[in-house]
Amino acid sequence: MRAALGSRRIPHAWLFTGAEGIGKDAAAIEVAKVLRCESPLENGTVPCDICRGCVSTAALSNGNVRFVFALPSGKGEDSRADSPMLKLSDAEITLIKEQMALKAANPYHNITIPRAQQIKISSIREVKRDISFAANEAGWRIVIVSEAHLMGEEAANAFLKTLEEPNSRTLLILTTSARSRMLPTILSRCQEVRFDLLTDEEIAAALIARQGADRTAALLLAKLAEGSYSRGVELMSGDLNQLRFDVVSFLRTALRRSPMALHAEIERLTSGSDRVQIERMLALLALWLRDVYSYRLTGGDAFIVNRDQLKDIQSFDTRFARAPLDRLILSIEGSIRAVRSNAQIPLVFTVLGMRMEEMCFQGPGG
Ligand SMILES: [Zn+2]
Repeated sequence: MRAALGSRRIPHAWLFTGAEGIGKDAAAIEVAKVLRCESPLENGTVPCDICRGCVSTAALSNGNVRFVFALPSGKGEDSRADSPMLKLSDAEITLIKEQMALKAANPYHNITIPRAQQIKISSIREVKRDISFAANEAGWRIVIVSEAHLMGEEAANAFLKTLEEPNSRTLLILTTSARSRMLPTILSRCQEVRFDLLTDEEIAAALIARQGADRTAALLLAKLAEGSYSRGVELMSGDLNQLRFDVVSFLRTALRRSPMALHAEIERLTSGSDRVQIERMLALLALWLRDVYSYRLTGGDAFIVNRDQLKDIQSFDTRFARAPLDRLILSIEGSIRAVRSNAQIPLVFTVLGMRMEEMCFQGPGG
C-alpha cells in the first residue's frame, strides 16, 4: 500500500479486508489524508497531519473525501430519493452526526446506528454524482465505503458501474469484515489488501499509548480483544473488573453442588445482560481457567493475567488438582458458540455449570 502511494501507482479501487476493529477504516482515512495532503512526508507516503487537507480529511469534512456507511431507512422512504438522509427523523440525524464525530475523533471507532442495516442506493448515487463532478477539479477524490458488504443488491449493482468506469483522479476504498458477503464481481475489480489481526502485545502497547491504560489492565484487555484494537477500547469502557469477579463467583457456585444456589446465581448474572456481555463473561471465565492452567504448568505467576486473584487461582488448583482444565475451557468455548447462535442464555449457563461440576469432581477421563 505504501509502495503504491510512494510511486503514485494507485489502483482504481482498493478493498481492505480483515476482522472488525483492526483499523481498516483508519487505514483508508490515512490514505485519503496522504492524497489530500498539501505537503506529504517520506516520499509522499505519510500525511503531514497539520495542513488543511489532512485536518479536514481526518475530521471527515473534506469535500473531496466521502465516507459512506450503512444508514437506517426512513419512514416511507423511496429508494429513488436523492439524499440518503431525506426521510430520517431529527433524532436519527443527530445520532448519525454524533457517530460521524466519534469516527472523526477516533478512526478505529465502530459506527453503530440502530436499524442501520444497509448501505443505501441513494448513498451510492451520491458517490456517482461526486465522481462526475470530480472530473473538472484538481487533486484526488476519495470515496471510502465502510463495511461494503452491507450494500444491498441494488446499491452493489449501482456501485459496480462506478467500478467499471474508472476515473483517473478518483480512488475508491472499500473496507469489509465479511469478505465472503461481497459480490464476486466487485471483488474481482478491486485490489485487495488483507489486514492481519494484531497480537496481544501490539494491542496492549496501543492501549497504553493511546488510552492511558496501565500495563496489567492493558494485557488483560488485549487477551480479551481477540486481535481487535477497537474491541480492546470498548472493553476498557465496560465494567470489566466486576465481570472478572462475577465469573469466579459463578464457578464457585457451580462447585457448591447446589442446584438451587446455581439457579439463583445464574439469574443474578444473566438478567439484564445482553449477549455481548454474556460472551465477554464466558471469555473471562475461560481466561481465568487458563490462568489456573499456566499456574499448574509453571508453578508461578509469570503468565497469569488475573494477577490480583492469584490466591483464588492457587486454591482452586489445590482443591481441584485433577480437574481437566483443557476440557473445561473447551466446554466454555462451546457455550460461547451457543450464545452466538442464539441459544437461551440461562440454559447455556445451567448446562455449563453442571458440566463444570461434573468435570471438577470426577477428574480427568470422567
Ligand atoms: Zn497534510
